[in-house]
Amino acid sequence: WEKPEALLTRDEIEANKGDWAWVPHPTLLWQPARTVNEDAAGTVHMVTEAGKNIKIPKSRVMNGPETNGREQKVPLWPLHRSVLKHLEDDLVAADGVNEGIISYTLRELYENKSQIYTWVGAAHSVLVAVNPYKDIKGLYTPNQVRDYERPPPNKKLPPHVFGIAANSYNALLRDAQNQSILISGESGAGKTVATKHCLSWLADVAGSESHVEGKILSANPVLEAFGNAKTIRNNNSSRFGKWIEVYFDGATGGICGASIQNYLLERSRVVYQQRGERNFHIFYQMTGDRDICSRFDLEDASAYQYLNKSGVIKANDVDDEGDLQEVLAAFEELEFGQEEQEWIMATTVAVLLLGNVEFSPKTQAGSVQGSAIKNSGPVKRAADLLGVDPEELDHVLTFRSISVRGEKSVIPLDPTTARDSCDSLAKGIYSRLFDYLVSRINESLEGRAGKFIGILDIFGFEIFENNSFEQLCINYCNEKLQQFFNRTTFKEEESLYAAEGITFKHIEFIDNQVVLDLIEQKPVGILLMLDEETLVPEGSNEKLMNKMESQHQRNPKFQVDPHRRLNKDLSFEVVHYAGVVKYDAELMMQKNIDTLYADMYACCQASSEPRLAGLFPNLGRQQIKSVSYKFRKQLNELMDVLYETESRYIRCVKPNNDQRPDRFETPLVVEQLRYSGVFEAVAIRKQGYPFRLSFRQFRCRYSCINQGHVYRGRDDRAVCEEIIASSPHTFEDVQFGRTLVLYKAPVHKLLTLLRNLAL
Ligand code: ADP
Ligand code: MG
Repeated sequence: WEKPEALLTRDEIEANKGDWAWVPHPTLLWQPARTVNEDAAGTVHMVTEAGKNIKIPKSRVMNGPETNGREQKVPLWPLHRSVLKHLEDDLVAADGVNEGIISYTLRELYENKSQIYTWVGAAHSVLVAVNPYKDIKGLYTPNQVRDYERPPPNKKLPPHVFGIAANSYNALLRDAQNQSILISGESGAGKTVATKHCLSWLADVAGSESHVEGKILSANPVLEAFGNAKTIRNNNSSRFGKWIEVYFDGATGGICGASIQNYLLERSRVVYQQRGERNFHIFYQMTGDRDICSRFDLEDASAYQYLNKSGVIKANDVDDEGDLQEVLAAFEELEFGQEEQEWIMATTVAVLLLGNVEFSPKTQAGSVQGSAIKNSGPVKRAADLLGVDPEELDHVLTFRSISVRGEKSVIPLDPTTARDSCDSLAKGIYSRLFDYLVSRINESLEGRAGKFIGILDIFGFEIFENNSFEQLCINYCNEKLQQFFNRTTFKEEESLYAAEGITFKHIEFIDNQVVLDLIEQKPVGILLMLDEETLVPEGSNEKLMNKMESQHQRNPKFQVDPHRRLNKDLSFEVVHYAGVVKYDAELMMQKNIDTLYADMYACCQASSEPRLAGLFPNLGRQQIKSVSYKFRKQLNELMDVLYETESRYIRCVKPNNDQRPDRFETPLVVEQLRYSGVFEAVAIRKQGYPFRLSFRQFRCRYSCINQGHVYRGRDDRAVCEEIIASSPHTFEDVQFGRTLVLYKAPVHKLLTLLRNLAL
């Protein structure tokens, strides 16, 4: 878009001289620079904004950056220098879809205006949120809550998380349709905080007769105590995904209930944490409390193997004592009985004690023949807390029964195996306790009636140095959500144009069905082959690798190193929408089966404590399903629900890896925008007509642009047509639909400019 020459100020004319483009910058990634000339040797000479001379080979200019994670080579992105002075708080309205303008916009708003929120599109259904890592004054006050509830006339509200909550709530009441808010981003990006802001806005504005909104907010401290932990990336990192449905009474608009679904708790954390990380908060909260310590005969956190190995017991910014009081208050609010609370804590303590059981080798005739428990204290105490027979527990920890050709026999476990299986017992009990908490909270939340707003707070796309089963599940989930996003955005756009009866070019988008098939298709998708392999008696990760390789070798989304077999390499690559991820199949099978030996299961099932016994129901052989099976089932159910909702999105972005305020690292941000499909979203919206105003809105807003012109038509539509027709400027591609005026970013820019000049 060229701003009409007549409208340029002298400064702008100067600034616009020459061709501006985004050129690489060592830390900002891209910076504006102006072309001076091109020499005979094919070098382009440019001057950056800061006045630095740079030379760029012509080939580079024509073969510059890549976008969208696709290997799309484009020339250096052009730039209209003047737009940098009037940055839009909507990325679709920005000048172009590229890393240069998008990262510049986010950074300037963040650094110079403390503005962390930006819209993607005028429909205000996609919001980008950059974590400020500090409290921004006045951003979440009761005044703000009210503004988004009832927008003051003549005031354009800035992008805000409350805007997403408010749009969802208004749409629910208006259309009587279920709504969803999908929050994504990597660990520490601000998903859980955004979820809380949405919930608290809904609680404040909608309220309820029964005060159920207080319970909904109380669920948080409990879930965070048992499901969050300090990690390297986030001091309060959620180690599970969740989907919360908040139900509304269609007549009063009040909240009438809620329900929570949890996904993939990181159970391995119970027994092992990386250096610098912690176990789940609850363990430190309990061992740090005098009263609880004396009631349960607990020692200091450093006395427990599950807590003292990672080097951190006290975490910065985590107030264990205060949080414990919140948990206890939340238990009361949620109507957990006294005795029930006692059981929850006892079970948590038992898990901790299992970590302190020590096994020593038992030798017979000079060779190791299983193991014996060195310290009977923890076992006895754990058995007591769990309500199981101490001798029985001792036995299941040191022996395992197997059946060979129908005949049962008992084999002793060596100390290492015994330790491992003790760990699986601890993980098995803890993860079931977590499920118990969720289902008990759901009982308190008064169930489901009416229409809901669902909020999804789930792990974002992950590419680590080592990626295994967990990352495969997480990335599969993100792939699914990305497909949902692309399909619905595209469908909504096209159906709106059809409803308005306007002509439009078919919108292009990438559908990631091929990758999804690779992962989930029956019966040869990676996760299904994995399940299959765990069922066959002689199954192994190596055999799985070989089978996957021969099955998928011609699939362009699946790659293995041709020398893999020679190097005994068990890794494969999947080409995800957000990038290529290398997965290690080394431990896939072990991670996919929730290994609790039958003896251990039976031991817990026989507990005299009915709540614990209830967590270990009778299973038919068929019911023993893999982790992947359970997750796929949950995810597909979620997708079915999502497709019936009207959806909105919050893309959370982390500006640095140090949890520090006022530091915006552009390369890190751009990478996340790519993973979360923000470029795609901007592109899809930009291809269509992202600006749409009703005839009345358009008339009110823009009649002023043709100064002195008198409009005679009474019909809003006729006036709109006249506004455009009587302007001396050319507006490219303005469409008049049945109820709306629709147009693209350049027209929006020109209209805004003319309006500002006229006012
Ligand atoms: P995630 O759930 O994505 O892993 P969190 O929501 O837990 O991340 O956010 C991590 C931390 O970042 C929070 O504990 C808080 O300190 C900070 N934070 C996130 N969002 C905001 C916000 N809007 N304002 C201030 N601080 C925030
Ligand atoms: Mg979180």
